[in-house]
Amino acid sequence: VIRADIVLRRVRPMGAELVDVAIVGGRIAALGARLAARGPELDGQGHALIPGLHDHHIHLLATAARAASVDLSGAVGEPDVVARLRGADGEGWLRAFGYDEAIAGLPDAAVLDRWCPDRPLRLQDRTGALWILNSLALARLGSGPWPDGVETCPVGRPTGRIWRLDGWLRERIGTDIPSLAELSRTLARSGVTGVTDAGPRNGPDEGLILASARASGDLRQRLMMMGREDLPPSPHYELGPLKLQYDERDPPPVDTIAGRIRVARAQGRGIAAHCVTVTELAIFLAALEAAGGARAGDRVEHGGLIPAAMIAPVAEQGLTVVSQPHFIAERGDRYLREVPSDEHGDLYRLGSLAATGIPLAGGSDAPYGGIDPWTSIAAAVSRRTRGGATIGHDEALPALSALSLWLGAPGDPGGASRRIQAGAAADLCLLDRPLAAALGSLADVQVAATIIDGAMV
Ligand SMILES: [Zn+2]
Repeated sequence: VIRADIVLRRVRPMGAELVDVAIVGGRIAALGARLAARGPELDGQGHALIPGLHDHHIHLLATAARAASVDLSGAVGEPDVVARLRGADGEGWLRAFGYDEAIAGLPDAAVLDRWCPDRPLRLQDRTGALWILNSLALARLGSGPWPDGVETCPVGRPTGRIWRLDGWLRERIGTDIPSLAELSRTLARSGVTGVTDAGPRNGPDEGLILASARASGDLRQRLMMMGREDLPPSPHYELGPLKLQYDERDPPPVDTIAGRIRVARAQGRGIAAHCVTVTELAIFLAALEAAGGARAGDRVEHGGLIPAAMIAPVAEQGLTVVSQPHFIAERGDRYLREVPSDEHGDLYRLGSLAATGIPLAGGSDAPYGGIDPWTSIAAAVSRRTRGGATIGHDEALPALSALSLWLGAPGDPGGASRRIQAGAAADLCLLDRPLAAALGSLADVQVAATIIDGAMV
């Protein structure tokens, strides 16, 4: 009899035959019908057991900061702003974003004191260029002299308005590092057991913050971190590709980018490039060529627009495309208005890439995209916008391929079943229905249980 940490009874791994699964020490110890195992049991009722989902492109700190902030965009008048601010949970610093001057003029500290008297508040305007602090927040700034950008009254005291001084503010009040615990729980509720942080500016600071979140247990998901050349390795995350992201209106010379690629190679790292536009993709392909070509695992992030003529070069380089199928749902109606109609077929391609043998993976891009993987998987099948239009009907994936975007390593089609075998890490997701039913109604799927490293989360 196996003494197990968890025994999953009556589950169907990837929809296969009914088995019990015994989990010991973070691994799948045994699978079999009516397994002789003792331990805390969970009855799977014959539903599907799949590998835990992996969000291949997310911005953890920005997502957590958003969630811990008050969104003032679309507020209707001052009473609405006040209601949103006072309705915020928690204590200590309150952060608000999305404030539009059209709502109630340009406030100063005195106005914010009326809106929010009992917590230090910093409010960012819609453009992101202006922060306004209430008196409790100003008190934490210390004393002058004040740099340009801190507006002062005639007697030299700050009014609360601070223009374009993000870095200085961070130094004065510290980074308000958001807790990742709630975000981690949200991800777990959708069956996500692993994430890849795609921050292009991830360096030693971000590495330390996320490593600490893993070590403390706030962040339960396994973590891969992309980032800059100076992002250090850590026992708490897997060091991911060097992330390339440029302003396409003013990109660096191809040789400069190729130089960064060579540095990453020397570090034994892959490359992931932000490629929403055709220009960005063309620059990446040119830089790869200049640096001696791509290697397996190098990634095109987004692939927002891939003209038919560029599919073959992407395939020849062996690049993986990490897509956001849900952007078709969330932003599709805007794409249809703003993208020239002869390019609609190039938007967030999936089917034509898969047919050419290009490995695909999915990521939320939260907070810029919705965080729920099931919505994304459903959108990869339907290709429907919120308004009900269809974009790139031929680019739709079969439901199982769409699900696979979120399972395991891209380009490893057998990976899903191998991850539910004796000896494999126990990162698992139990659905609330059989696999066929799940694939038939992806948007309705609920996750019955999520297990990370052998523990229920
Ligand atoms: Zn991103």
